Amino acid sequence: MASEMEPEVQAIDRSLLECSAEEIAGKWLQATDLTREVYQHLAHCVPKIYCRGPNPFPQKEDTLAQHVLLGPMEWYICGEDPALGFPKLEQANKPSHLCGRVFKVGEPTYSCRDCAVDPTCVLCMECFLGSIHRDHRYRMTTSGGGGFCDCGDTEAWKEGPYCQKHKLSSSEVVEEEDPLVHLSEDVIARTYNIFAIMFRYAVDILTWEKESELPDDLEVAEKSDTYYCMLFNDEVHTYEQVIYTLQKAVNCTQKEAIGFATTVDRDGRRSVRYGDFQYCDQAKTVIVRNTSRQTKPLKVQVMHSSVAAHQNFGLKALSWLGSVIGYSDGLRRILCQVGLQEGPDGENSSLVDRLMLNDSKLWKGARSVYHQLFMSSLLMDLKYKKLFAVRFAKNYRQLQRDFMEDDHERAVSVTALSVQFFTAPTLARMLITEENLMTVIIKAFMDHLKHRDAQGRFQFERYTALQAFKFRRVQSLILDLKYVLISKPTEWSEELRQKFLQGFDAFLELLKCMQGMDPITRQVGQHIEMEPEWEAAFTLQMKLTHVISMVQDWCALDEKVLIEAYKKCLTVLTQCHGGFTDGEQPITLSICGHSVETIRYCVSQEKVSIHLPISRLLAGLHVLLSKSEVAYKFPELLPLSELSPPMLIEHPLRCLVLCAQVHAGMWRRNGFSLVNQIYYYHNVKCRREMFDKDILMLQTGVSMMDPNHFLMILLSRFELYQVFSTPDYGKRFSSEVTHKDVVQQNNTLIEEMLYLIIMLVGERFSPGVGQVGPAEEIRREIIHQLSIKPMAHSELVKSLPEDENKETGMESVIETVAHFKKPGLTGRGMYELKPECAREFNLYFYHFSRAEQSKAEEAQRKLKRENKEDTALPPPALPPFCPLFASLVNILQSDVMLYIMGTILQWAVEHHGSAWSESMLQRVLHLIGMALQEEKHHLENAVEGHVQTFAFTQKISKPGDAPNNSPSILAMLETLQNAPSLEVHKDMIRWLLKMFNTIKKIRESSSSSPVAEAEGTILEESSRDKDKAERKRKAEIARLRREKIMAQMSEMQRHFIDENKELFQQTIELDASVSAAPDNSPPVSDTALTALGPAQTQVPEPRQFVTCILCQEEQEVTVESRAMVLAAFVQRSTVLSKDRTKVIENPEKYDPLFMHPDLSCGTHTGSCGHAMHAHCWQRYFDSVQAKEQRRQQRLRLHTSYDVENGEFLCPLCECLSNTVIPLLLPPRSALSRRLNFSEQPDLTQWTRTITQQIKVTQMLRKDGSAAADTPSSEDTEDMNIIPIPEGFRPDFYPRNPYSDSIKEMLTTFGTATFKVGLKVHPNEGDPRVPTMCWGTCAYTIQSIERILSDEEKPVFGPLPCRLDDCLRSLTRFAAAHWTVTLLPVVQGHFCKLFASLVPNDSYEDLPCILDVDMFHLLVGLVLAFPALQCQDFSGSSLATGDLHIFHLVTMAHIVQILLTSCTEENGMDQENPTGEEELAILSLHKTLHQYTGSALEEAPSGWHLWRSVRAGIMPFLKCSALFFHYLNGVPAPPDLQVSGTSHFEHLCNYLSLPTNLIRLFQENSNIMNSLIESWCQNSEVKRYLSGERGAISYPRGANKLIDLPEDYSSLINQASNFSCPKSGGDKSRAPTLCLVCGSLLCSQSYCCQAELEGEDVGACTAHTYSCGSGAGIFLRVRECQVLFLAGKTKGCFYSPPYLDDYGETDQGLRRGNPLHLCQERFRKIQKLWQQHSITEEIGHAQEANQTLVGIDWQHL
Ligand SMILES: [Zn+2]
Ligand SMILES: [Zn+2]
Ligand SMILES: [Zn+2]
Ligand SMILES: [Zn+2]
Ligand SMILES: [Zn+2]
Ligand SMILES: [Zn+2]
Ligand SMILES: [Zn+2]
Repeated sequence: MASEMEPEVQAIDRSLLECSAEEIAGKWLQATDLTREVYQHLAHCVPKIYCRGPNPFPQKEDTLAQHVLLGPMEWYICGEDPALGFPKLEQANKPSHLCGRVFKVGEPTYSCRDCAVDPTCVLCMECFLGSIHRDHRYRMTTSGGGGFCDCGDTEAWKEGPYCQKHKLSSSEVVEEEDPLVHLSEDVIARTYNIFAIMFRYAVDILTWEKESELPDDLEVAEKSDTYYCMLFNDEVHTYEQVIYTLQKAVNCTQKEAIGFATTVDRDGRRSVRYGDFQYCDQAKTVIVRNTSRQTKPLKVQVMHSSVAAHQNFGLKALSWLGSVIGYSDGLRRILCQVGLQEGPDGENSSLVDRLMLNDSKLWKGARSVYHQLFMSSLLMDLKYKKLFAVRFAKNYRQLQRDFMEDDHERAVSVTALSVQFFTAPTLARMLITEENLMTVIIKAFMDHLKHRDAQGRFQFERYTALQAFKFRRVQSLILDLKYVLISKPTEWSEELRQKFLQGFDAFLELLKCMQGMDPITRQVGQHIEMEPEWEAAFTLQMKLTHVISMVQDWCALDEKVLIEAYKKCLTVLTQCHGGFTDGEQPITLSICGHSVETIRYCVSQEKVSIHLPISRLLAGLHVLLSKSEVAYKFPELLPLSELSPPMLIEHPLRCLVLCAQVHAGMWRRNGFSLVNQIYYYHNVKCRREMFDKDILMLQTGVSMMDPNHFLMILLSRFELYQVFSTPDYGKRFSSEVTHKDVVQQNNTLIEEMLYLIIMLVGERFSPGVGQVGPAEEIRREIIHQLSIKPMAHSELVKSLPEDENKETGMESVIETVAHFKKPGLTGRGMYELKPECAREFNLYFYHFSRAEQSKAEEAQRKLKRENKEDTALPPPALPPFCPLFASLVNILQSDVMLYIMGTILQWAVEHHGSAWSESMLQRVLHLIGMALQEEKHHLENAVEGHVQTFAFTQKISKPGDAPNNSPSILAMLETLQNAPSLEVHKDMIRWLLKMFNTIKKIRESSSSSPVAEAEGTILEESSRDKDKAERKRKAEIARLRREKIMAQMSEMQRHFIDENKELFQQTIELDASVSAAPDNSPPVSDTALTALGPAQTQVPEPRQFVTCILCQEEQEVTVESRAMVLAAFVQRSTVLSKDRTKVIENPEKYDPLFMHPDLSCGTHTGSCGHAMHAHCWQRYFDSVQAKEQRRQQRLRLHTSYDVENGEFLCPLCECLSNTVIPLLLPPRSALSRRLNFSEQPDLTQWTRTITQQIKVTQMLRKDGSAAADTPSSEDTEDMNIIPIPEGFRPDFYPRNPYSDSIKEMLTTFGTATFKVGLKVHPNEGDPRVPTMCWGTCAYTIQSIERILSDEEKPVFGPLPCRLDDCLRSLTRFAAAHWTVTLLPVVQGHFCKLFASLVPNDSYEDLPCILDVDMFHLLVGLVLAFPALQCQDFSGSSLATGDLHIFHLVTMAHIVQILLTSCTEENGMDQENPTGEEELAILSLHKTLHQYTGSALEEAPSGWHLWRSVRAGIMPFLKCSALFFHYLNGVPAPPDLQVSGTSHFEHLCNYLSLPTNLIRLFQENSNIMNSLIESWCQNSEVKRYLSGERGAISYPRGANKLIDLPEDYSSLINQASNFSCPKSGGDKSRAPTLCLVCGSLLCSQSYCCQAELEGEDVGACTAHTYSCGSGAGIFLRVRECQVLFLAGKTKGCFYSPPYLDDYGETDQGLRRGNPLHLCQERFRKIQKLWQQHSITEEIGHAQEANQTLVGIDWQHL
């Protein structure tokens, strides 16, 4: 049916193509009713262009539209060809100085922390780079799309508003001139006409709501029956749901469904079916039915195709308007006029109003088009921006209401434009005064919080997801309020005052609804049943925090406003507390002859609330009165006499008591919600307007009260009045055991109360309370944070309160209090407190949490001990109070305070069981210290003749009054000084007594004798010495005890390990490494060492003993013994690859015998070097496997390793492994112990012999295989022709010398290499197994040589043990592997490899010499050779063969180098060759020149040639040296173990090569000439020389990760320009950079998923398969995060190589500090890659963090 219903796109109407824009425009110019003419044209043409088939063709449609519809309009506007007209307009235009660039998603934006008026002022990258701010403190973020560059907006920047590009040239006038003066009258009139028609047309059609009818003037006579089923997006349904539903509803493939869903998500709507009405309606029904189950259904409309067509064109028209006004500011102004002109329906009927008011009804795509138009028109024209702002403010409440109902994100809502007006200071102020904006916003906000309790306070429902969603929307209103207030007025007009105070009233109304909300009552008996809702209230409080602060800031700016606000606030507070003293009779409290009346109220029994914003606001304003001195200047204007201090303090005090009681465990049954609330109350995000203000309020109230009265009320609220007013409380409780809990509770409450008193007197760092500036406040915060521990910048920032501009003010003071310590290769930069700042440390700093306090105490005491100081932490000297708060200090010397101190000291002296605590004592001592400090300060600053009122020392010297006649406080301190149980406090008490004496001396200043002081010091001194000695003795005892314990522990541990071998997988590094120092035994010192050949230095292989890490048994490595193995990890690698496009297409057919010199598709082997018995390993692996199976069944969990693929973790170090390598002795000595009796053949002879031997074996093999079929006569003939060389016994099969266990392991590792390297099923009989083994040996050596060269390390320098072990065992394994393979197979490989150098007719598919990696060839030949040599009894030795093979390959390599070396770079003059080498090489080059038929270019110079050969061959020589070293066990010459000079000569000596390499050719010229000839005549060589193909040249360049830019923002910029390669031009959401090849990928997204081995995987995973053969390193650009991937299931995040100036990374780009490349860290990542450690790194990360295992890495 579908085919019938979905007609093909109809052919385009010819008339459209033939129409001429000029003609139509001409017709319009004559028209009397232009609107009708244009509408007719549109009605006729639009449906013929747009929406003519099931799928849109945007490009084709737009081209036609431009031709038929927009072209005429452009002609009409210009009155001539627009191609001429528009440039003219552009030229006449005086461009605006605003940049106005609209940001794309992900584009970097910059804000200057020094100059931006607020953080919403941002620059685009181009403007930023051309501005002065690039040298300022700036912040970088990535845009979420929308918003534009503020460059050129003088209001946005305190300094440097223009970048270089947008700078005003000095001659130009700054004043605004009417841009219309640059246009001719005609153009103005015509533009006006067209703009008016088109803008109205677009608005009409976009807001059109009928689905199958058009507006009358667009309706045409004949209408087709074609409809669309239009699907709209919402924020409710997921991608998966939509895709699934579509597949069902419209019968499309998954791919199509994904396409639809992607477009719906991007544009907001997409037609999913085209056809007649019924057909579309049917799809709609299915979609609605399918998506309506849990939520509201997806929005679907069946829409007539002509409606869709006009809507599409409507959008096009809007974009067109946007682009046309780009030509001239005058045109832009006309459009603004048209847009804001009031329409026929009066108020709110302008086109702009209509669009705004319909915003929530429009689909996403339509919204973003018209928002963009607004941004480029109304917001770019300063005059109209104002008018637009007024329209916006007038519609504000309606728009917000719509937004609440709208289910789109705020970013696509017109309400998000608020930031554009509200943050502009003059606009904001204008809107406040003219539109009463502040009140409007607050009222709109209140509209949405309707739920109230009986007292009219907010009441929040349970915080569900939907609630949270709605609530988040409401919060955007707070954000708007914040924007309005963010820039503070510099001047106040009467109007502004009035409107601000109106706004303040509204704000008080709002706060009033919060005062006392969420009240709680202590739960006794039973635990609460359901945690009450608390989050919403706190979220509200948290969001309002900055607004509250800003309101206070505003008030502070104007005295009149401050006074009025203060009055208003007080009035509202009084209202809230109406009836506060009603009810019960007041009670009377009395202590020490003082008495006070108060209400009867217990926090533990009645309702209490944490939310007291009105009280707190008043406290803030009160401090401002003090700070601005208004309180002293206009006391008569202030209602100070109306203040009732007990009323002011009541609620904040209750709140603080609540915290104390919670801490004392009295509210346990109220559950976690309360604990959380208390936490946030103190948290840095909230405390500024909560806890801090409560303390302020208490300080305010208490400063107006008799301190004795206050202290009694305090005792009463803490429910401690009884304790202190009852004599002998302590004694009573010491005898009663039953009330232990109560005693404990009371102790805590007493501690808390004392703490509160300390805070009230000690916290004077808020400007206005104490005589300090704002810098001192922040300085003190930092000192106390750093007293806990050194901190990184971000940590410190997190612990400090941020203002509305996200600033902490930290930078201004940090230098004065801390040293910065740079980060190393890991970790972060740290700030450390300067030692001199420790003096300012206050143990009872009010922002410390309990944990922080005890950590800080410990840290500070430790510091003091380290500095050999006493450990007292006395209160620091404090700044004086401001006069309004000055009386607070009297608390310290008030009678009740002294009484409380005395009582507690008494308890301590009498030591009453549990009725007191050391913390209590410590606090009392601190308070005494504070009082002494205060008195000292008073005395020192005393004015002559002024009466000294602070006399604490006198008061504490007096014994207590009746009835208990207690000793004086001083006397008790002296007693306590000697109490043995109070060791910890001794230093403090001593400090107090000393302080006391100092004060006494100041008081007696005139009569004081210097002798007495000296005496005092001496006494002090000697007692301190004694103390020190004592401390030292104790420390020594402690040390000895520690050592003993350690010894016991390690003994126990050893035992444990022995008994739990299987469990023993932890990281205890018992170095069971194999290298028992074989290299360190230097048996040969001076003699030259030779690694191979007949002259090979004979070194007895040291006996090797290895300890098994599993059973701890030691065993010698021998040929016959049980196998010992190393855990190993084999992986494919492209690290050395020069051609990443090459992949093994068909692994079943792929022949790895020859390695191409581009080294693509290598196989790497690594090992952690941990050895175990083969059988122990087998057992271990079996148990891992079994455990894993059980675990998977039970938990369905993934592990970091894939057991099914043979993966396991090394039992000792948890290193990821997938096989084991057997440990072996040098296999050559094990194989041939035959002596060399005879003269060894030279290269020529040897080559001939080998060629013959090869022929014989080939014949025999052919014969053997052909014998069964038809015996060919030719063969037998050949057989006769080729004589069997002397001593060659092809029928001989040697005995395998290895034990069964070793043989088994040889097979195991060989098979693993084959399986992993080729990604095929294991098959131990496959002939490719041995070649894979040789290959991985060669590749691994090459990769290590590469790393050593890159790091400029010597080839035999100190190699890490594990590498050394790995290479040794790998080489020896590869050399021994042939013994477990069928002899003919290895022989066959040898023959073929050999044939690539020495021609042999039997092969046709041999690669040309340019296409063979010579080192791989060498390894293959050498390791396969024994298979042939073992049948040779002629006396020619294995060593001879090795040497000749090596020489042959070396010569081939030299030829290869000469053929491929680029000769162009020769800037040298032709010099006469002088050296022997140079002459030799010139002649060789000549030979080549000759054999290549002169195709090889003429030799530049001998010197140059020789230099390039030497350089080109070095890697090969180094690799060969490593190879033969490990193969034959000849120690490395000492010269090669140090770095520095070129090792060329040493290498040649070690490798038995002449230093003049060309001599090899000369000595063997017989054979070599013919060989060279055969190599050069290969057709591929010819093709190369004639430039038809390329070839690798030598030395191969290093493979590095890509170069990264220094500045991270250029990466962000690059990524923001990157669009998804699959979904035409869409910006990628997670652009990810491959650090290996530099490709940008569209990661973590449906659009770019690819199929890999039958599974859908993300772009990154797919990319790793080609680029890194499974392993990949990426940089997620938006997150600034490095991603490691391996295979489909493994991955981890790694710290990025970008650091900010504070030495920290910013994963997730949350902080926005400028980031710069850290070379060291990047090199570390590169090294991980080069060492093939990515997989291992992932394994470790996943073991350490199990959550990484659960991530679906393949979707990235
Ligand atoms: Zn800009
Ligand atoms: Zn600019
Ligand atoms: Zn700046
Ligand atoms: Zn063992
Ligand atoms: Zn290990
Ligand atoms: Zn994509
Ligand atoms: Zn790549």
